[in-house]
Amino acid sequence: MVKFAVSDHLAVQIEQRLPQTQCTKCGYPSCHDYAVAIADGSANYNQCPPGGQEGVARLATLLNKPVIALNTAHGEERPRPVAFIEEEFCIGCTLCIQACPVDAILGAPKQMHTVIPQMCTGCDLCVAPCPVDCIKMISVTPGKTGWDAWSEEQAQASRHQFEFRNQRLLREKRENEERLAAKAAAKLKALELETAQTAEEIQQKERKKAIIAAAIERARLKKLEAESGNAS
Ligand code: SF4
Ligand code: SF4
Ligand code: SF4
Repeated sequence: MVKFAVSDHLAVQIEQRLPQTQCTKCGYPSCHDYAVAIADGSANYNQCPPGGQEGVARLATLLNKPVIALNTAHGEERPRPVAFIEEEFCIGCTLCIQACPVDAILGAPKQMHTVIPQMCTGCDLCVAPCPVDCIKMISVTPGKTGWDAWSEEQAQASRHQFEFRNQRLLREKRENEERLAAKAAAKLKALELETAQTAEEIQQKERKKAIIAAAIERARLKKLEAESGNAS
């Protein structure tokens, strides 16, 4: 049976109250990580600009603490923006796709890219990597900020998209590692079939075999480590 510490339960409750834009403005790589940090006392509960002042109040109520001001060192509360790509300038480098935490950008290498506005959380993370500065953030909720500009349903949809993307990235990484391992095993087999006659050739062949065998063993240990990490 999986055992949860009290702070794990609290982290779940905190996470349910966060906007799930996955913008990292709180200083953590995801809303989940920030929730864990608040629960274990290593982060304050006023560091989430997308949640704004109401978000601070929601967390204060849950934590039975006073409502304090949003810490603007992490960003200002603002109307919610959506990313817009000026497609005529896009060079199709895919850097924005790689940066988007919720897969809200469509495109392929060397093709124009476009944002699906309904999926965009307004996190800003695609703006900085764009080498031609063709991504603009356009406000879509003038006069409304924080939770007034973002619904519970949008938060849950974004969380789902984020988790879905993380699973996809993990799967792609695993598939790539398996492909490389199969390639290395085939190379090793081919080497074994190679004839080597002189002492130098034999030495060279053994050296190559040792390098490939070591690489295969490293990959095996890495896989084991990842599997035991997933199981815990
Ligand atoms: S919405 Fe952004 S700032 Fe708020 S908790 Fe999530 S990642 Fe952090
Ligand atoms: S399109 Fe840009 S702003 Fe919108 S969610 Fe993706 S990375 Fe964030
Ligand atoms: S980062 Fe900029 S140039 Fe590259 S694909 Fe995205 S929008 Fe186009």
